[in-house]
Amino acid sequence: MKKIVVLGGGESGVGAAVLAQVKGNNVFLSDAGMLKEHFRQTLQQYQITFEEGKHTEERILDADEVIKSPGIPDKAPIVQKLLAKGVPVISEIEFAGRYCNAKKICITGSNGKTTTTSIIYFLLKKAGLNVGLAGNIGSSYAYQVATEKHDYYVIELSSFQLDGMFDFKADIAVLLNITPDHLDRYDYNMENYVRAKFRITQNMSKEDCFIFCSDDEVTMSHLNQIVLKAQLLPLSQTEKVNRGAYAIDEYLHAQYQEDEFSMLIEELALQGKHNIYNSMAAAVAGQVLDVRNEIIRESLVTFKGVEHRLEPVLKVRDVLYINDSKATNVNSAWYALESMKTKVVWIAGGTDKGNDYTDLYGLVEEKVKAIICLGIDNEKLHENFENKVPVMYDVRSMNDAVKTAYELTEPGETVLLSPACASFDLFKNYEDRGRQFKEAVRNL
Ligand code: ADP
Repeated sequence: MKKIVVLGGGESGVGAAVLAQVKGNNVFLSDAGMLKEHFRQTLQQYQITFEEGKHTEERILDADEVIKSPGIPDKAPIVQKLLAKGVPVISEIEFAGRYCNAKKICITGSNGKTTTTSIIYFLLKKAGLNVGLAGNIGSSYAYQVATEKHDYYVIELSSFQLDGMFDFKADIAVLLNITPDHLDRYDYNMENYVRAKFRITQNMSKEDCFIFCSDDEVTMSHLNQIVLKAQLLPLSQTEKVNRGAYAIDEYLHAQYQEDEFSMLIEELALQGKHNIYNSMAAAVAGQVLDVRNEIIRESLVTFKGVEHRLEPVLKVRDVLYINDSKATNVNSAWYALESMKTKVVWIAGGTDKGNDYTDLYGLVEEKVKAIICLGIDNEKLHENFENKVPVMYDVRSMNDAVKTAYELTEPGETVLLSPACASFDLFKNYEDRGRQFKEAVRNL
């Protein structure tokens, strides 16, 4: 019996433990923090031994294989000790992939993963396929592999999950973009982060498809240095491509084999330049999987969007309030500002992850009439934007942010929460921040 230790008892860890257990391994789960009650119950239900609030080193180091949750960095002392001892440390996705023959459509990128994963899932469901949705959304991949049977999986993959993947193979891999994020986990070395993202292509053969953004310089420069067997299907908004997709002028085109798909961009449910890439990725994936063009079109027209991603909340006095709380880095805030068609009161700020705001200067000068800084330390925002906008305000609560925005706007304008920063200084997480925003807007 193989001794498997699972580090971390959240969604992916508990899922991995359940799968390892039902496959007849000797399983032990260890979490340095406390578990949520429903995870504790699941572990008990499957009779899995676990500990919380500590790591019993002896037992962990005795493992044949360790499944590590993506939240635990490689630098954690326990992981360092495992690696030093030569114990294989893998991710939940790697582990579950061993027991799953379904076709796997995997999505990564610095921004747009959840949105694109959700569109592709929606599209495949509409096509009537038996498909599971996994990654950061809903229940974990491993748990589904243990308890359900699907012919297809659409899986969102972060670079942390990819780090722990070795033999896993995607049938269709989507790499949306690569911009600096989480560099603290990659020794502040961009190349390491790029390589982690490209792990999504590892083990692919010529039957498999790699969908990527050919307008993304970082992606292209790395792609030019490596040899991939997979079929290359680029997405572009600057040039026509024969296979893949492009959006130029009013139309989006996608083509895999002979059959060409095209539709008007203004019909897409999700507007904004970034969402055109996401929709194109979904259209190409649909074509590769032989989904009929009508179904692809209908999916892209009727998709409802994902909470906290450029989510229109309400119009109050003819001012539209948009919740983009998930924009936790500069790049996603750039796309949000880029997609604004009116004057904007921009609510930004939070925990800065080493942001460089220069890319935003032009858009801010053009569109933003006021910035409301919602953070404990707003100094960097002031330094960058004080001479780029007429007024800036500092607030410490979402209610004050929304009230101030309300007072500053005229009919026809937009209030945009797109913080470009993490939320941990004033909120539990970005979901909490987004919900507080929506609540405050509804209370206006
Ligand atoms: P992820 O799962 O990669 O964090 P999400 O789909 O949750 O991505 O979107 C996160 C943020 O990035 C949102 O603010 C969204 O508006 C923005 N965004 C979505 N798609 C893209 C894209 N293709 N390029 C850049 N930004 C994007």
